[in-house]
Amino acid sequence: MKDLDKDKIKEEIKSNVKRLYRKEFKEATEKEIFQAVSLVVKDEIIDDWLATQNAMDEQDPKTVYYMSMEFLMGRALGNNMLNLCVYDEFKQALDELGLDITSIEDQEPDPALGNGGLGRLAACFLDSLSTLGYPAYGCGIRYRYGMFKQKIEDGFQKEVPDDWLKENYPFELKRSEYTYEVKFGGYVRTEVGKDGRLNFIQEGYRSVLAVPYDMPIVGYNNNVVNSLMIWDAQPKQVFSLESFDKGDYVKAVEDENLARSLVEVLYPNDSHISGKELRLKQQYFFVSASLQRAIQRFKKHHDDIHDLPKKVVFQMNDTHPTLTVPELMRLLMDVEGLGWDEAWDITTHCVAYTNHTIMTEALEKWPIEIFSRLLPRIYNIVEEINRRFCLEIEKKYPGDQGKVDRMAIIYDGQVRMAYLAIAAAFSVNGVAKLHTEILKKETLKDFYDMYPEKFNNKTNGITQRRFLLHGNPLLASWVTDKIGDGWITDLSQMSRLKVFVDDEKAQQEFRSIKYKNKLRLARYIKEHNGIEIDPNSIFDVQVKRLHEYKRQLLNIIHVMYEYNRIKEHPELDVIPKTYIFGAKAAAGYKIAKLTIKLINNVAAVINNDRSINNKLKVVFIEDYKVSNAEMIFAAADVSEQISTASKEASGTSNMKFMMNGAVTIGTMDGATVEMVEEMGRENAFIFGMSADEVIEHEQKRDYNPMDIFNQDQDIRKVLMQMVNGFYSPDNSELFRPIYNSLLNTNETQYPDTYFNLKDFRSYAETQDKLMETYRDEKKWTRMAMMNTACCGKFSSDRTIQQYVDDIWHLDHIHVNPLEDDEN
Ligand SMILES: *Cc1c(COP(=O)(O)O)cnc(C)c1O
Repeated sequence: MKDLDKDKIKEEIKSNVKRLYRKEFKEATEKEIFQAVSLVVKDEIIDDWLATQNAMDEQDPKTVYYMSMEFLMGRALGNNMLNLCVYDEFKQALDELGLDITSIEDQEPDPALGNGGLGRLAACFLDSLSTLGYPAYGCGIRYRYGMFKQKIEDGFQKEVPDDWLKENYPFELKRSEYTYEVKFGGYVRTEVGKDGRLNFIQEGYRSVLAVPYDMPIVGYNNNVVNSLMIWDAQPKQVFSLESFDKGDYVKAVEDENLARSLVEVLYPNDSHISGKELRLKQQYFFVSASLQRAIQRFKKHHDDIHDLPKKVVFQMNDTHPTLTVPELMRLLMDVEGLGWDEAWDITTHCVAYTNHTIMTEALEKWPIEIFSRLLPRIYNIVEEINRRFCLEIEKKYPGDQGKVDRMAIIYDGQVRMAYLAIAAAFSVNGVAKLHTEILKKETLKDFYDMYPEKFNNKTNGITQRRFLLHGNPLLASWVTDKIGDGWITDLSQMSRLKVFVDDEKAQQEFRSIKYKNKLRLARYIKEHNGIEIDPNSIFDVQVKRLHEYKRQLLNIIHVMYEYNRIKEHPELDVIPKTYIFGAKAAAGYKIAKLTIKLINNVAAVINNDRSINNKLKVVFIEDYKVSNAEMIFAAADVSEQISTASKEASGTSNMKFMMNGAVTIGTMDGATVEMVEEMGRENAFIFGMSADEVIEHEQKRDYNPMDIFNQDQDIRKVLMQMVNGFYSPDNSELFRPIYNSLLNTNETQYPDTYFNLKDFRSYAETQDKLMETYRDEKKWTRMAMMNTACCGKFSSDRTIQQYVDDIWHLDHIHVNPLEDDEN
């Protein structure tokens, strides 16, 4: 590291303030100081960034392009300072300038170019790739508006645009020199070329220019800085009087509108497809631009395009970037001049696919009409891939038309993106053991039977640098005190904490850290929600996207039940509990939005009932996002991971809680199964049906929630309160749709599709057990400490190493820091 001591930092911050704002330091606002500090950090990054680029040019390593519609990065400033190992120096410098480093960090907008888990996974992967020293590009879209900001008004969610680029964002660099054209629509004309080959020429199209912005991805203490390239769209010719004169007026306006609308907004759907034409345009836009840049980079060092698979691999994060397959085929055939077989051979050795869900709402399909109109040449190619693929199926299963129908890429007027991805990819992976097994046995069984060698599992992980080192500095330095700082880049070392779990002094320290983190969150909640919460109560937390399968409804129904119990039995000796929720619902997902309203109304009734002596509080944290998430995990006692078994592919917040010493109450779903494997079932509270049981009930269709409603008086009471105005005195019908979703069949769904009532008793009993355990301070602390001590497997460093070993086969890059030109 360069000689960046605190005095130098102070000097540079002050001079940046002057340079940027023509102000003396003492007149600058915190926002301006944030910009000034960021500039110092960026200067610090630039040399390593250049050095990494040079190393990649010289060493020509095999590189992964991580293709993802979403990167939920979270704030960069704090993370960059930590990974550069200059955080303490900046903290001191700011201290001496009379400023608190966290309030400067709080000035940064939270770049929220993603919805939830899938986008956050992509961000964790980039951090791990740089830290492990592997060459990588993240490829995505520079949405003008990221994930909406959530306001809660009268208990309802209101979506407000997230204008994250309003002020200059300091950690991006425009790279106009890598501008490419991307074409939409028109028609394809064929012509025989001089060499006798058939050429495909797209005509009458509209096009935009794709302009990349690079964001640095700083590795931890290793001088490696990879890039996240996110694409902006610009009109090809700026609307001008000139084109007006030429009569191209309409076309010019259309091109400008296309460019403007393309990158305007991130679709706020999680595990649910939107099917909007613009979404398909976005997909093609970033895929085409990214592939053009990848091929241009490759050709700088290589003459023979056949060598592409030796140097380049494209990982498709879910089906959203599946157009990588036909677009790579197009570039290889129409631009590079290869024949079909050669192009297919290269493509199928360059692309790999990660599946993220088995739920039907998420299986991406596009109507042929939209697809072929928008991407005529690409559609030709997909048709040919499908034709050949169906022949292959017939050859393997002669006469089995059912098989062909089930597996065809184009079927029933639609293009099935997952099947296209699987047909072409050399690797298909699930994101947790259980998930991968369900894919092989149920969802993708036909494909597994045909290509067993393609299927593999890569259990998700998270980066400990953001979710422990940055998010929980107290616990991080405690861990370092106990076992040294090796865990920062090798999380398996956390197991060395196991020797402390029965140590009284260590236990006390651990508890005191949790208490301080609870105070910090209580302050945040007081400030943002105006609700006073008791840091001595159990903080029971469910934060994640709002979705029926994640069962926030089960949680709030149980809160309603506990409230009734406390009212009916005031003599009961219960430990005060604070139920904390945080969740955004997709703007068009009615029942999810109504669930937010229900949580807030239940909160209003309970929090204002003095008769229960503060035994129960309910808080809905507005605008759940990466920056407040970091604080929430650090403060949680209990982690709610209560999805209907088989529905949560992996989950990653379960791991973040575990790392921060929260105890899980959850179902045997996703990666929670593997967490329990690591720490032992005695260190978690597991309840409910298994994935096999759920799947069996779904297949037999033998579950009737009305039976439970009729027999269980407590459930009956809670459900009646939902529709008798108890929680909505002004409109007793308000929550009727939720009641109906639990008890009545509608056109599309069975009642209680997600088995809330079926799992309720098991959940309630397990919650009681949890409270009893919490009374035993030593036992509880031991459990919490075991969670932290056993989290080693769940580092994204481990996940990335497995991707590298089994799928990507990347070369390391060795970066020699540039000579500091001032020395
Ligand atoms: C980790 C994370 C998620 C994913 O949470 P799950 O509980 O695994 O669905 C979503 N949003 C944010 C902000 C996160 O940090």
